[in-house]
Amino acid sequence: MNRREFLKSSAVFASMMCLPSALRKACGAAATSSSAPVRKPNVLLILADDQGYAELGVQGCKDVPTPNIDSLAKNGIRFSDGYVACCLCSPSRAGLMTGKYPESFGYEFNPGPPSVAPANFGLPLTETTFADRFKKMGYATGVIGKWHLGYKPELHPLKRGFDEFYGFLSGAHNYLPGKGKGKEPILRGEERVEQPEYTTDAFARETVEFIDRHKSEPFFLYLSFNAVHSPLEATDKYLKRFESMKDGKRKKYAAMTAALDDAVGLAMDKLRELKLEEDTIVIYLSDNGGPTGVTTSLNTPLKGAKGNVYEGGIRIPFIMHWKNHLPAGEVYKKPVISLDLMPTCIAAAGEKVDPEWKLDGINLLPYLRDETTDAPHETLFWRMGDKRAIRQGDWKLVAPGKQEFELYNLAEDISETKDLAKEQSEKAKQLREIFESWSGQMKQPLWGSKPSKGKGNNAEQEE
Ligand code: CA
Repeated sequence: MNRREFLKSSAVFASMMCLPSALRKACGAAATSSSAPVRKPNVLLILADDQGYAELGVQGCKDVPTPNIDSLAKNGIRFSDGYVACCLCSPSRAGLMTGKYPESFGYEFNPGPPSVAPANFGLPLTETTFADRFKKMGYATGVIGKWHLGYKPELHPLKRGFDEFYGFLSGAHNYLPGKGKGKEPILRGEERVEQPEYTTDAFARETVEFIDRHKSEPFFLYLSFNAVHSPLEATDKYLKRFESMKDGKRKKYAAMTAALDDAVGLAMDKLRELKLEEDTIVIYLSDNGGPTGVTTSLNTPLKGAKGNVYEGGIRIPFIMHWKNHLPAGEVYKKPVISLDLMPTCIAAAGEKVDPEWKLDGINLLPYLRDETTDAPHETLFWRMGDKRAIRQGDWKLVAPGKQEFELYNLAEDISETKDLAKEQSEKAKQLREIFESWSGQMKQPLWGSKPSKGKGNNAEQEE
């Protein structure tokens, strides 16, 4: 089906989307008037960790094949200008889970591991999560993998809207069994369990089992891989695929990516086997840019890396796949942000966002279905202490630290090489005012940034 045909039929799809796929197939459009029970679409939200902009085949990666993730893009929508709300793990996740700028509730900095985390660290109980909202809508909810939104019992996933949890609470974890033993347990619910597998393989297995267990009801599964965050650890199964790779560090990273891609493939195989592909919105993104120095994860052609607010820290691989409900093989080029995912999925489920929730994200469906040519967002903002940025259209004003603001035109200069702040001082001033106005509405950080430990790019090594 070409794009024109797709759009013509999208209204029919839209009217049928609340019916089970089997019924849709059997009855066609006539089924829309039936009183059949409503099946809401499942949501499989896949989050990679520290995967840079350049690290998928469809994003230009040449040395590490990612056929399964690429397939999501080829059969769905790839966002060339997809952002996260922060350049580090934990605040980025706080934004993803709430649909709000994390700075709006003081979640501005990463906490560090449990041993040094501030006493008040975690997603405040005043905030409502993605899972809270979907649980209320009648969904089975689960999280598999990395949590990183609080270590205390009252902030555990099972207290934040998730029915099921398999994974770990902190910001990083060893992949190989036996490594780092005793430091950070794998939990099933609140129980510590033995974990004999490579974690990425274990998370894939748990995902397949979760999908199978909940095949007859709508589910929201947050699949939060620690891949491809440090430490670099891989098994022979995946290392073997890169025998010719000379750089040992890159080789391990490549093997970790291969495991991640295989895991995504297993999840998709299960959805297809159960004929749930058309009933499942599959989203894939990374929580922040690649820490190139630490893991080799590249952000090309973007400047910067994990831990800063140049594009390489905040613009990430971002894909949405929903067979027969969204266009296939498109690249959407207007800026979107991870905060949009919750309201988009709520709309896909046929429910409404209450303005009282004060979400910063918006429902992307009308934009993705060409029902409007407007941009989803006029402006996007980032703040992590002195690191500040605003994007408006093609313009980006960025203060990479204590330095002055720099101005770039991303349409002409995606790599942020030519600072136009002096040349275009009026534009810089205008954006600065918009930024300050937004920043003034944000909360004071609930906890501070971790003190630096010696030389090197500490931000890249943060969990
Ligand atoms: Ca991360």
